[in-house]
Amino acid sequence: MGRTVLKGTPVCNGVAMGVVRYLDIDYDSFIKDYVPTDKDGELARFVLALKNAKADLDGILSEGEKLSSEEEDIIDMHLMLLDDVGFIEAIKRRIKEGIGSPASIQKAVTDFKNMFANMDDEYLRDRANDVVDVGNRVLRKLLGMPETKIEGENLVLVAKDIEPALMAGFSENQIKAIVLENGSKTSHSVIIAKSKGFATLVGVDVSKASECNGCTALVDTREGSVVISPDKDEEEAFKKKCEEYKKEAGYLAEKAGDPAVSLDGKRFKVAANVASPDEMGKAVDMGCEGVGLYRTEFLFMDSDTLPSEEKQVKAYRDLLEKAGGNLCIIRTLDIGGDKKCKCLDLMPEENPFLGYRAIRICLDKKDMFKTQLRALIKASAYGKLGIMIPMIDTVTEIKEARALFEEAKNELKSEGVSFDEEVLFGIMTETPASVMMAGDFAKYVDFFSIGTNDLVQYTMAVDRGNGLVAYLYDYFDPAVVRAIYTIAKAAKGAGIMVGMCGEMAGDALAAPLLMAMGLDELSMSPSVAPEVKEAIRTHRSDDADIEKVLAFETGKEVREYLEGLLNKGTC
Ligand code: PEP
Ligand code: MG
Repeated sequence: MGRTVLKGTPVCNGVAMGVVRYLDIDYDSFIKDYVPTDKDGELARFVLALKNAKADLDGILSEGEKLSSEEEDIIDMHLMLLDDVGFIEAIKRRIKEGIGSPASIQKAVTDFKNMFANMDDEYLRDRANDVVDVGNRVLRKLLGMPETKIEGENLVLVAKDIEPALMAGFSENQIKAIVLENGSKTSHSVIIAKSKGFATLVGVDVSKASECNGCTALVDTREGSVVISPDKDEEEAFKKKCEEYKKEAGYLAEKAGDPAVSLDGKRFKVAANVASPDEMGKAVDMGCEGVGLYRTEFLFMDSDTLPSEEKQVKAYRDLLEKAGGNLCIIRTLDIGGDKKCKCLDLMPEENPFLGYRAIRICLDKKDMFKTQLRALIKASAYGKLGIMIPMIDTVTEIKEARALFEEAKNELKSEGVSFDEEVLFGIMTETPASVMMAGDFAKYVDFFSIGTNDLVQYTMAVDRGNGLVAYLYDYFDPAVVRAIYTIAKAAKGAGIMVGMCGEMAGDALAAPLLMAMGLDELSMSPSVAPEVKEAIRTHRSDDADIEKVLAFETGKEVREYLEGLLNKGTC
């Protein structure tokens, strides 16, 4: 096989060189050789296969100390699917209709997979892969197939998909990179690959690699590329690139705990975006100082009924305690748009991102909102808390939300509950209205946090999930840069804190610009924190010439200007 280049989307960064191992599990040939019996016999075989599949997963769980808590949760989830009455009955029903058990499993898996794949919510959509993984495990037991064993070291594993349980067993020595056709940022296999630090690309057409077992592969996620069978010179140059990357990553990891102080002595706070208190361990390891955004909607999305006040207190308290006294900004429910939850029977909408969302729902369902505010205030006794309200458009919304916050505090006081009187009350600035009104909004709150994910969407009138218009979705577009500047200036003028928790905050390229605009805090996915901290440490806070940036007319000019600044830094 000659030199071949594959392209994909990076989900975990890395530069790695290894040997291709193409993983293809050939179910079809085993199915062809399968000799069915009568209905009762098929039913009995299926029940036994199910039992053996569960025993395998129990076995993996019992080797507990090798698994991270994320991996344990995923295996638990697969065990739950194997106990799901609806799923099992769907298979049994088909067997009773006279369909052979392998085909019955495959049909039920397809139905369940399609059901998940058609859901609006990205997290639930990704559960389609889990159904396939679980179904395949039972199928392998039924067909008497051996479990896949990956042997060898320094592998670049290429596959359509890899089951989470298999991924969980890989070690850092064994695997250098993962190249997948399926999967996304939130699919479970990818979550595990990320937690192990494997360089990972998804969305790759892997068919060309099926003949490449044993060939050398060069993976550079920053370029979204895999080069298979490179020539000698390319391989030598790549080895140097790997060394440089390793040095850089090792250096950054070592310094992750150091504060982010600019060359001119200004201290910036780098905080974590999390969706659960369980993510705090990694956030602390990566040098995050507290939490700039806890998306509480995941607490609601996981449940059929609204989470009780006590359940919420437990989660918020857990987060605050794990943050060790650092400020945790917890965002009130931001459901709607692309985030749905079963516990709030929301009607489908023509334009969900412009519709019934976030604070609009909370001010409509005041009991639910008050319960969340009470839980937050109660939890404030265990750390340093900031409450943040998403999607604010008007002063009236702030006043109403603030009035409920005060009401909740008074209720708790009269109930004799102790809490922190200094809880901060802030808002997300993520709509064009919040840009125009920033000066007024600043009078009523303790902080702003700029949500660039939505700010770009609403400023540019471009759906954040629509690939066809993705070329317009750019946080370096001058329209967005000017909006950010307006918000920062208003906050500074009013003397309140201003941070950013949209994806732009986790881009090291943006750091000098955001520092120069006077942002106090940048909040991001913990894995990128060491890189952003280093970008802060290697620049002065006034390296970016704001006047100059504000005069640019295209995103390309802004980007090129910032690239010039980053190259001047010492990182
Ligand atoms: C944002 O809009 O930038 C943000 C952080 O919120 P979310 O991505 O949850 O909408
Ligand atoms: Mg948002």
